[in-house]
Formats: sequence, C-alpha cells, structure tokens
Amino acid sequence: MTNSIYIDQKEILKRYKQPDKHTHKGIQGHALIIGGSYGKIGAVSLSAKACLKTGCGLVTVFIPKCGYTILQTAIPEVMVLTDNQEKLISNITFDITPQAIGIGPGLGQEIETQKALHQFLKTNKTPLVIDADALNILSKNKEWVSLVPPKTILTPHPKELERLIGKWHSEEEKINNTISFSKQHQVIIVMKGAPTQIIDGETVYENTTGNAALATAGSGDVLTGMITSLVAQSYEPINAAILGVYLHGLTADIAFPEMGYQSFIASDVIATIGKAFL
Ligand code: AMP
Ligand code: MG
Repeated sequence: MTNSIYIDQKEILKRYKQPDKHTHKGIQGHALIIGGSYGKIGAVSLSAKACLKTGCGLVTVFIPKCGYTILQTAIPEVMVLTDNQEKLISNITFDITPQAIGIGPGLGQEIETQKALHQFLKTNKTPLVIDADALNILSKNKEWVSLVPPKTILTPHPKELERLIGKWHSEEEKINNTISFSKQHQVIIVMKGAPTQIIDGETVYENTTGNAALATAGSGDVLTGMITSLVAQSYEPINAAILGVYLHGLTADIAFPEMGYQSFIASDVIATIGKAFL
C-alpha cells in the first residue's frame, strides 16, 4: 500500500532542527563533494557553495587537478583535495572523515572515472548522495548499486531515472517501478521534476514548492549540495532529502516576484537559501 504525504510548511517544521547557539564548525558537520572534470568544474563549485550555505560547518571538494585554482578562487571557504589526474577523477582517496559525501556533479563518465567510482563504492561506509554522472555510471553498471550504503539518496532528473530503472509507459508505472527499486536497494530516490517526488520504500512524499525558474543549468547540482549538507548535519537521510527539496523550491518561489522565470540562475538559488531558511 502506497502512502502519500504532501510536503508543506507544516511537514517541514516537524523536521527542521534549529542549530544550537553554542554550536561550532566542528560539530556542524563536514561534507565532501566529489565531482568535476575538464570544463565542468562549475558544477562542483555550485554544489559546494550550496552545501556551505545550507549550514554545514566544513566543506571539502575532491576534484581533478585542473579545478584547483578555480575552486580556491571561487569559494575561499572550501577546502580542496585533488586527484592525481589533470582533467578527470581516476582514484578517489582522501584522509578526511566527512559525515556525508555528495558525488556526481560534473564528474564525467570516462572509463577511469567509472573504475574509480567502483573502487570507492566497494569501501565507502559514509552516508551518500548520488547525482548526475555518478548516477549515469551506476546505470551502466547496475550491479554496483548493491554496494551503496542503506538510505543512500539518489537524485535523478527524468532522463537519469529512465537510465536507472528503464522506460515507463504511465505515471503510475513510473512510481511503481521507482518504489520497487527503492525497496530492492534500500535507497531514497528524489525523482526531480515538477513537482519533485521523494520515494522511500512505499512512501511517496510530494513537494509543494518550486517553479519553472528552476529549469536552469546547475540547479540540480545546487540541490545535491543542499541535501549533502543536511545529511552532514545529522539529519536522517529522508528528512535531509525532504528539507533540501523543499528549501530549493522555496528559493525560486521567493525570488519569482523580483526575477521572474527567465533570469533566475543556479547562483541565485544559492543566494536565496538564507531567505528560504528564514
Ligand atoms: P537538474 O536537471 O539535475 O539540473 O535538476 C533540475 C532541478 O530543478 C530539479 O530539482 C527539478 O525538480 C527542478 N526543476 C526543473 N524544472 C522545474 C519546473 N518546471 N518546476 C519546478 N521545478 C523544476
Ligand atoms: Mg543534474
């Protein structure tokens, strides 16, 4: 039996946790964002900045070498680790212990990167948010899905979802197939769209914020950073997904009267996260 819940302000206030006024950056969560390839460092930059602006204490990125100066210049608050390759990620190793990892924005799907993701998944036990090319790589290697930790959050847009679960012929079939996938792999699936629906086993959460202004480059990368930030801040993964999706949509609703649909871009989502929280 499917259970449907609308995510409105009441549902959000049940889940939202006010930060303790005595908190410090060391207990506000450390998130790691892994991604980027030559020409797509911006995706990681957006994701990492959104992660910080959603309240996590520390953010590190893991990127190919070509992104080092770009990241350090674009976001001085973020720490940067690099792969030993210039243009792509080939070996995901690091000596930090983040509370959450977001992986995929701008990652690319080169064979070396696919192998690196496989190796990483074999040993990783940290809570994960998987997006973009990391999802596309999983779709090409479906047996690797069994390696992700329980309650991993997957954030596919419709095309990425189709690659992952196969074609559907009706809305009902899409939801049913996503529920089966969620149950089989014990993962949470953020089915991005208008509206976004979040599937956690038999439960379908339908978001009530957001508008067409979000149909813009980098919008999903920002969402990945926001959800990863909330997981790093010790939100249960399902609540991190719900709160992240709601706040992401709310930024577009808040900005709409001033910016309309056309000129709102992913950086504006990030700039409006503070107002969405308030
Ligand atoms: P991506 O395709 O990965 O960049 O993700 C796009 C993001 O924008 C997702 O969170 C979508 O739910 C959201 N989005 C895109 N188009 C719309 C729309 N027309 N109405 C509401 N949200 C949208
Ligand atoms: Mg995307």
